[in-house]
Amino acid sequence: MKKHIVVIAGDGIGQEVTTVGKQVLDRIAEKFGHEFTYDEALIGHAAIEATGNPLPEETVTKSKQSDAILFGAVGHPKYDNDPSAKVRPEQGLLGIRKALGLYANLRPIKLFDELLHSSSIKPEFLQGADILFFRELTGDVYFGEKGRKDDGNTAYDLMIYSRYEVERIAVKAFDAAMTRRKKLCSVDKANVLESSRLWREVVQEVAKRYPEVEVEHQFIDAAAMLLIKDPRRFDVVVTGNLFGDILTDEASQIAGSMGMLASASVGDTTGLYEPIHGSAHDITGKGVANPLASVLSAALMLDISFGMKAEAEAVVDAVDQVLKAGFRTRDIADANTPKDLILGTEAMGKQLLSKL
Ligand code: NAD
Repeated sequence: MKKHIVVIAGDGIGQEVTTVGKQVLDRIAEKFGHEFTYDEALIGHAAIEATGNPLPEETVTKSKQSDAILFGAVGHPKYDNDPSAKVRPEQGLLGIRKALGLYANLRPIKLFDELLHSSSIKPEFLQGADILFFRELTGDVYFGEKGRKDDGNTAYDLMIYSRYEVERIAVKAFDAAMTRRKKLCSVDKANVLESSRLWREVVQEVAKRYPEVEVEHQFIDAAAMLLIKDPRRFDVVVTGNLFGDILTDEASQIAGSMGMLASASVGDTTGLYEPIHGSAHDITGKGVANPLASVLSAALMLDISFGMKAEAEAVVDAVDQVLKAGFRTRDIADANTPKDLILGTEAMGKQLLSKL
Protein backbone atom coordinates (compact mmCIF):
# COMPACT_ATOMS: atom_id res chain seq x y z
CA MET A 1 0.00 0.00 0.00
CA LYS A 2 1.24 3.51 -0.81
CA LYS A 3 0.76 6.23 1.81
CA HIS A 4 1.96 9.82 2.06
CA ILE A 5 2.74 11.07 5.57
CA VAL A 6 3.48 14.63 6.68
CA VAL A 7 5.81 14.87 9.67
CA ILE A 8 5.18 18.00 11.74
CA ALA A 9 7.77 17.68 14.49
CA GLY A 10 7.11 21.12 16.02
CA ASP A 11 9.05 22.26 19.08
CA GLY A 12 11.23 20.96 21.91
CA ILE A 13 11.40 17.18 22.16
CA GLY A 14 8.90 16.97 19.27
CA GLN A 15 11.87 16.77 16.91
CA GLU A 16 13.62 14.02 18.86
CA VAL A 17 10.63 11.73 19.37
CA THR A 18 9.13 11.99 15.86
CA THR A 19 12.50 10.96 14.40
CA VAL A 20 12.06 7.61 16.16
CA GLY A 21 8.35 7.42 15.21
CA LYS A 22 9.30 7.85 11.55
CA GLN A 23 12.10 5.24 11.75
CA VAL A 24 9.56 2.75 13.06
CA LEU A 25 7.13 3.56 10.23
CA ASP A 26 9.95 3.02 7.74
CA ARG A 27 10.80 -0.37 9.23
CA ILE A 28 7.12 -1.37 9.09
CA ALA A 29 6.93 -0.35 5.42
CA GLU A 30 10.00 -2.45 4.66
CA LYS A 31 8.76 -5.46 6.66
CA PHE A 32 5.21 -5.49 5.28
CA GLY A 33 5.96 -4.33 1.71
CA HIS A 34 4.37 -0.86 1.87
CA GLU A 35 5.63 2.38 0.39
CA PHE A 36 5.51 5.36 2.77
CA THR A 37 6.59 8.75 1.41
CA TYR A 38 7.16 11.76 3.66
CA ASP A 39 7.07 15.51 3.68
CA GLU A 40 7.91 17.89 6.53
CA ALA A 41 6.08 21.00 7.69
CA LEU A 42 6.48 23.71 10.32
CA ILE A 43 4.23 24.57 13.26
CA GLY A 44 4.37 26.31 16.64
CA HIS A 45 7.42 28.23 17.83
CA ALA A 46 9.55 26.78 15.02
CA ALA A 47 7.06 28.20 12.50
CA ILE A 48 6.86 31.59 14.26
CA GLU A 49 10.64 31.88 14.14
CA ALA A 50 10.75 31.00 10.43
CA THR A 51 7.63 32.76 9.14
CA GLY A 52 6.03 34.80 11.94
CA ASN A 53 2.97 32.51 11.76
CA PRO A 54 2.39 29.49 14.11
CA LEU A 55 0.47 27.75 11.32
CA PRO A 56 1.82 28.66 7.86
CA GLU A 57 -0.59 28.12 4.97
CA GLU A 58 1.91 25.68 3.44
CA THR A 59 1.55 23.41 6.50
CA VAL A 60 -2.23 23.32 6.10
CA THR A 61 -1.97 22.60 2.36
CA LYS A 62 0.60 19.81 2.82
CA SER A 63 -1.48 18.31 5.63
CA LYS A 64 -4.67 18.30 3.59
CA GLN A 65 -2.88 16.54 0.74
CA SER A 66 -1.48 13.80 2.99
CA ASP A 67 -2.91 10.48 4.15
CA ALA A 68 -1.91 11.10 7.77
CA ILE A 69 0.18 13.39 9.97
CA LEU A 70 2.83 12.37 12.49
CA PHE A 71 2.93 15.24 14.96
CA GLY A 72 5.46 16.06 17.70
CA ALA A 73 4.59 18.89 20.10
CA VAL A 74 4.30 22.67 20.26
CA GLY A 75 5.35 25.10 22.96
CA HIS A 76 8.17 27.29 24.15
CA PRO A 77 8.96 28.68 27.63
CA LYS A 78 9.08 32.20 26.18
CA TYR A 79 5.30 32.07 25.72
CA ASP A 80 4.50 30.08 28.86
CA ASN A 81 5.88 33.01 30.86
CA ASP A 82 4.14 35.64 28.74
CA PRO A 83 0.39 35.03 28.78
CA SER A 84 -0.20 38.33 26.96
CA ALA A 85 1.69 37.29 23.76
CA LYS A 86 -0.78 37.57 20.87
CA VAL A 87 1.01 35.12 18.54
CA ARG A 88 1.48 31.79 20.34
CA PRO A 89 2.77 28.30 19.40
CA GLU A 90 -0.40 26.49 20.55
CA GLN A 91 -2.42 28.50 18.00
CA GLY A 92 -0.70 26.27 15.45
CA LEU A 93 -2.09 23.09 16.98
CA LEU A 94 -5.58 24.48 17.63
CA GLY A 95 -5.56 25.89 14.08
CA ILE A 96 -4.62 22.66 12.36
CA ARG A 97 -7.25 20.72 14.32
CA LYS A 98 -9.80 23.25 13.12
CA ALA A 99 -8.50 23.37 9.51
CA LEU A 100 -8.67 19.57 9.17
CA GLY A 101 -11.95 19.24 11.08
CA LEU A 102 -10.31 16.96 13.68
CA TYR A 103 -13.13 16.81 16.17
CA ALA A 104 -12.32 13.62 18.07
CA ASN A 105 -9.21 13.00 20.10
CA LEU A 106 -8.72 9.32 20.92
CA ARG A 107 -6.45 8.46 23.81
CA PRO A 108 -5.99 4.81 24.64
CA ILE A 109 -4.81 4.29 28.22
CA LYS A 110 -3.35 0.83 28.51
CA LEU A 111 -0.70 -0.17 30.95
CA PHE A 112 2.12 -2.41 29.79
CA ASP A 113 2.50 -5.09 32.48
CA GLU A 114 6.19 -4.30 32.81
CA LEU A 115 5.33 -0.78 33.97
CA LEU A 116 2.80 -1.81 36.59
CA HIS A 117 5.12 -0.56 39.31
CA SER A 118 6.04 2.76 37.72
CA SER A 119 2.53 4.12 38.19
CA SER A 120 1.72 6.05 41.33
CA ILE A 121 -1.44 3.92 41.67
CA LYS A 122 -1.23 0.60 43.53
CA PRO A 123 -0.72 -2.32 41.06
CA GLU A 124 -3.67 -4.30 42.47
CA PHE A 125 -6.02 -1.49 41.36
CA LEU A 126 -4.35 -1.11 38.00
CA GLN A 127 -3.71 -4.49 36.47
CA GLY A 128 -5.99 -4.95 33.46
CA ALA A 129 -7.01 -1.28 33.22
CA ASP A 130 -7.77 -0.50 29.56
CA ILE A 131 -9.59 2.74 28.78
CA LEU A 132 -10.26 4.51 25.49
CA PHE A 133 -10.94 8.22 25.90
CA PHE A 134 -12.81 10.29 23.32
CA ARG A 135 -12.17 13.98 23.94
CA GLU A 136 -14.14 16.45 21.82
CA LEU A 137 -11.67 18.80 20.17
CA THR A 138 -13.31 21.65 18.30
CA GLY A 139 -15.79 23.16 20.76
CA ASP A 140 -16.05 24.17 24.43
CA VAL A 141 -14.29 27.06 26.22
CA TYR A 142 -11.33 26.75 23.84
CA PHE A 143 -13.33 28.11 20.93
CA GLY A 144 -16.22 30.02 22.56
CA GLU A 145 -16.19 33.80 22.71
CA LYS A 146 -13.56 35.08 25.12
CA GLY A 147 -12.67 38.48 26.38
CA ARG A 148 -12.18 41.00 29.15
CA LYS A 149 -14.39 43.69 30.55
CA ASP A 150 -14.33 46.20 33.41
CA ASP A 151 -10.94 47.59 32.37
CA GLY A 152 -9.49 44.10 32.11
CA ASN A 153 -10.48 43.07 35.64
CA THR A 154 -13.08 40.52 34.57
CA ALA A 155 -12.50 37.77 32.00
CA TYR A 156 -14.72 35.17 30.37
CA ASP A 157 -14.51 32.14 28.05
CA LEU A 158 -17.84 30.83 26.81
CA MET A 159 -18.46 27.09 27.02
CA ILE A 160 -20.43 26.36 23.86
CA TYR A 161 -21.58 23.06 22.37
CA SER A 162 -23.98 22.42 19.52
CA ARG A 163 -26.06 19.30 19.07
CA TYR A 164 -24.18 18.13 15.95
CA GLU A 165 -20.79 18.49 17.68
CA VAL A 166 -21.88 16.25 20.55
CA GLU A 167 -23.63 13.78 18.28
CA ARG A 168 -20.72 13.14 15.93
CA ILE A 169 -18.25 12.38 18.75
CA ALA A 170 -20.83 10.33 20.65
CA VAL A 171 -21.32 8.19 17.52
CA LYS A 172 -17.55 7.61 17.23
CA ALA A 173 -17.37 6.65 20.92
CA PHE A 174 -20.36 4.28 20.73
CA ASP A 175 -18.92 2.66 17.57
CA ALA A 176 -15.67 2.05 19.44
CA ALA A 177 -17.52 0.67 22.48
CA MET A 178 -19.19 -1.89 20.20
CA THR A 179 -15.74 -3.24 19.27
CA ARG A 180 -14.61 -3.39 22.92
CA ARG A 181 -16.33 -4.30 26.22
CA LYS A 182 -19.55 -2.45 25.23
CA LYS A 183 -19.44 0.01 28.12
CA LEU A 184 -19.53 3.77 27.70
CA CYS A 185 -19.21 6.50 30.30
CA SER A 186 -20.14 10.05 29.31
CA VAL A 187 -18.58 12.74 31.49
CA ASP A 188 -20.13 16.19 31.97
CA LYS A 189 -21.21 18.66 34.64
CA ALA A 190 -24.93 18.55 33.89
CA ASN A 191 -25.89 19.50 37.45
CA VAL A 192 -24.45 22.99 36.87
CA LEU A 193 -23.78 23.70 33.18
CA GLU A 194 -26.39 24.18 30.45
CA SER A 195 -23.93 23.06 27.76
CA SER A 196 -23.49 19.82 29.75
CA ARG A 197 -27.26 19.34 29.92
CA LEU A 198 -27.35 19.47 26.10
CA TRP A 199 -24.36 17.11 26.01
CA ARG A 200 -26.16 14.56 28.21
CA GLU A 201 -29.42 14.88 26.26
CA VAL A 202 -27.66 14.16 22.96
CA VAL A 203 -25.64 11.23 24.34
CA GLN A 204 -28.88 9.72 25.68
CA GLU A 205 -30.45 10.05 22.23
CA VAL A 206 -27.48 8.45 20.47
CA ALA A 207 -27.48 5.66 23.09
CA LYS A 208 -30.89 4.49 21.80
CA ARG A 209 -29.16 3.43 18.56
CA TYR A 210 -26.76 1.21 20.53
CA PRO A 211 -28.97 -0.89 22.84
CA GLU A 212 -26.11 -3.35 23.49
CA VAL A 213 -23.90 -0.68 25.03
CA GLU A 214 -24.18 -0.16 28.77
CA VAL A 215 -24.17 3.62 29.32
CA GLU A 216 -23.46 5.64 32.43
CA HIS A 217 -23.18 9.39 32.99
CA GLN A 218 -20.71 10.79 35.51
CA PHE A 219 -20.02 14.34 36.61
CA ILE A 220 -16.45 15.43 35.93
CA ASP A 221 -15.61 15.68 39.65
CA ALA A 222 -16.84 12.13 40.34
CA ALA A 223 -15.15 10.79 37.19
CA ALA A 224 -11.81 12.30 38.26
CA MET A 225 -12.13 10.52 41.61
CA LEU A 226 -13.27 7.17 40.16
CA LEU A 227 -10.44 7.14 37.63
CA ILE A 228 -7.91 6.88 40.45
CA LYS A 229 -10.08 4.80 42.79
CA ASP A 230 -11.06 2.12 40.29
CA PRO A 231 -9.66 2.62 36.75
CA ARG A 232 -10.79 -0.85 35.64
CA ARG A 233 -14.47 0.15 35.80
CA PHE A 234 -14.03 2.24 32.63
CA ASP A 235 -14.05 1.04 29.03
CA VAL A 236 -14.88 3.91 26.63
CA VAL A 237 -15.11 7.42 28.09
CA VAL A 238 -16.52 10.32 26.05
CA THR A 239 -16.27 13.92 27.18
CA GLY A 240 -15.88 17.55 26.15
CA ASN A 241 -12.72 19.44 25.31
CA LEU A 242 -11.88 20.94 28.73
CA PHE A 243 -12.89 17.97 30.89
CA GLY A 244 -11.11 15.65 28.46
CA ASP A 245 -7.94 17.69 28.60
CA ILE A 246 -7.75 17.37 32.37
CA LEU A 247 -9.03 13.81 32.71
CA THR A 248 -6.62 12.36 30.15
CA ASP A 249 -3.59 13.91 31.85
CA GLU A 250 -4.80 12.40 35.09
CA ALA A 251 -5.23 9.07 33.30
CA SER A 252 -1.66 9.32 31.99
CA GLN A 253 -0.52 8.41 35.50
CA ILE A 254 -2.22 5.06 35.06
CA ALA A 255 0.22 4.38 32.25
CA GLY A 256 3.15 5.45 34.39
CA SER A 257 4.40 8.38 32.34
CA MET A 258 3.34 11.04 29.87
CA GLY A 259 6.10 9.62 27.69
CA MET A 260 4.06 6.45 27.07
CA LEU A 261 0.77 7.85 25.85
CA ALA A 262 -0.28 8.21 22.25
CA SER A 263 -3.26 9.95 20.75
CA ALA A 264 -5.13 10.21 17.49
CA SER A 265 -7.06 13.27 16.40
CA VAL A 266 -9.55 12.31 13.75
CA GLY A 267 -12.44 13.80 11.83
CA ASP A 268 -13.77 12.74 8.50
CA THR A 269 -10.52 13.16 6.50
CA THR A 270 -6.75 13.21 7.31
CA GLY A 271 -5.94 12.07 10.87
CA LEU A 272 -3.23 13.55 13.09
CA TYR A 273 -1.23 11.32 15.44
CA GLU A 274 0.68 12.72 18.39
CA PRO A 275 2.00 11.93 21.84
CA ILE A 276 -0.08 13.50 24.61
CA HIS A 277 3.00 15.12 26.12
CA GLY A 278 4.19 18.62 25.31
CA SER A 279 7.51 19.99 24.16
CA ALA A 280 9.20 19.26 27.54
CA HIS A 281 11.78 22.02 27.50
CA ASP A 282 13.34 20.78 30.72
CA ILE A 283 14.77 17.82 28.77
CA THR A 284 14.97 19.17 25.18
CA GLY A 285 18.28 18.45 23.44
CA LYS A 286 19.47 16.11 26.20
CA GLY A 287 18.63 12.97 24.22
CA VAL A 288 16.65 11.47 27.12
CA ALA A 289 13.05 11.92 25.91
CA ASN A 290 10.96 8.78 25.82
CA PRO A 291 10.05 8.15 22.15
CA LEU A 292 7.49 5.42 22.91
CA ALA A 293 4.46 7.76 22.87
CA SER A 294 5.44 8.87 19.37
CA VAL A 295 6.00 5.27 18.31
CA LEU A 296 2.61 4.25 19.74
CA SER A 297 1.07 7.23 17.91
CA ALA A 298 2.53 5.82 14.69
CA ALA A 299 0.87 2.50 15.59
CA LEU A 300 -2.47 4.28 15.95
CA MET A 301 -1.93 5.85 12.51
CA LEU A 302 -1.33 2.42 10.98
CA ASP A 303 -4.48 1.07 12.62
CA ILE A 304 -6.96 3.95 12.31
CA SER A 305 -5.94 5.85 9.16
CA PHE A 306 -4.46 3.00 7.11
CA GLY A 307 -6.45 0.02 8.46
CA MET A 308 -3.17 -1.88 8.93
CA LYS A 309 -4.06 -3.91 12.02
CA ALA A 310 -1.22 -6.44 11.86
CA GLU A 311 1.33 -3.67 11.30
CA ALA A 312 -0.01 -1.71 14.30
CA GLU A 313 0.12 -4.82 16.45
CA ALA A 314 3.72 -5.45 15.38
CA VAL A 315 4.68 -2.00 16.68
CA VAL A 316 2.89 -2.43 20.02
CA ASP A 317 4.45 -5.87 20.34
CA ALA A 318 7.93 -4.43 19.74
CA VAL A 319 7.34 -1.88 22.51
CA ASP A 320 6.21 -4.68 24.80
CA GLN A 321 9.30 -6.76 23.98
CA VAL A 322 11.69 -3.88 24.61
CA LEU A 323 10.07 -3.26 28.00
CA LYS A 324 10.11 -6.99 28.81
CA ALA A 325 13.83 -7.04 27.99
CA GLY A 326 14.18 -4.48 30.80
CA PHE A 327 15.03 -1.39 28.72
CA ARG A 328 13.72 1.91 30.05
CA THR A 329 14.06 5.58 29.32
CA ARG A 330 14.73 7.73 32.39
CA ASP A 331 11.08 8.70 32.95
CA ILE A 332 9.91 5.09 33.28
CA ALA A 333 12.96 3.72 35.10
CA ASP A 334 12.87 3.18 38.85
CA ALA A 335 15.40 2.65 41.63
CA ASN A 336 15.71 -1.04 40.67
CA THR A 337 16.48 -0.45 36.99
CA PRO A 338 20.15 -1.35 36.25
CA LYS A 339 22.01 1.70 34.94
CA ASP A 340 23.00 -0.01 31.67
CA LEU A 341 19.33 -0.61 30.81
CA ILE A 342 18.44 3.08 31.05
CA LEU A 343 18.54 4.30 27.45
CA GLY A 344 18.38 7.64 25.69
CA THR A 345 15.93 8.44 22.90
CA GLU A 346 18.10 7.19 20.05
CA ALA A 347 19.19 3.99 21.78
CA MET A 348 15.58 3.17 22.68
CA GLY A 349 14.73 3.65 18.99
CA LYS A 350 17.51 1.22 17.99
CA GLN A 351 16.18 -1.42 20.40
CA LEU A 352 12.71 -1.08 18.90
CA LEU A 353 14.01 -1.39 15.36
CA SER A 354 15.96 -4.51 16.29
CA LYS A 355 12.77 -6.11 17.72
CA LEU A 356 10.90 -5.23 14.52
P1 NAD B 1 5.16 18.44 29.02
O1 NAD B 1 4.29 17.31 28.64
O2 NAD B 1 5.98 19.02 27.97
O3 NAD B 1 6.12 17.96 30.23
C1 NAD B 1 5.63 17.58 31.52
C2 NAD B 1 6.69 16.74 32.23
O4 NAD B 1 6.75 15.44 31.64
C3 NAD B 1 8.10 17.34 32.11
O5 NAD B 1 8.81 17.11 33.30
C4 NAD B 1 8.73 16.55 30.97
O6 NAD B 1 10.13 16.45 31.05
C5 NAD B 1 8.05 15.19 31.12
N1 NAD B 1 7.90 14.55 29.82
C6 NAD B 1 7.00 14.88 28.86
N2 NAD B 1 7.17 14.12 27.78
C7 NAD B 1 8.20 13.28 28.06
C8 NAD B 1 8.87 12.26 27.33
N3 NAD B 1 8.52 11.92 26.06
N4 NAD B 1 9.91 11.62 27.91
C9 NAD B 1 10.27 11.92 29.14
N5 NAD B 1 9.68 12.87 29.91
C10 NAD B 1 8.66 13.56 29.35
O7 NAD B 1 4.20 19.54 29.68
P2 NAD B 1 4.55 21.00 30.23
O8 NAD B 1 5.89 20.99 30.88
O9 NAD B 1 3.35 21.40 31.01
O10 NAD B 1 4.60 21.92 28.95
C11 NAD B 1 5.79 22.22 28.20
C12 NAD B 1 5.37 22.94 26.93
O11 NAD B 1 4.63 22.04 26.11
C13 NAD B 1 4.48 24.15 27.14
O12 NAD B 1 4.90 25.16 26.27
C14 NAD B 1 3.09 23.67 26.80
O13 NAD B 1 2.27 24.70 26.32
C15 NAD B 1 3.39 22.66 25.72
N6 NAD B 1 2.40 21.58 25.57
C16 NAD B 1 2.15 21.17 24.30
C17 NAD B 1 1.31 20.10 24.08
C18 NAD B 1 1.12 19.63 22.67
O14 NAD B 1 1.86 20.00 21.79
N7 NAD B 1 0.15 18.77 22.39
C19 NAD B 1 0.72 19.43 25.15
C20 NAD B 1 1.01 19.86 26.45
C21 NAD B 1 1.86 20.93 26.65
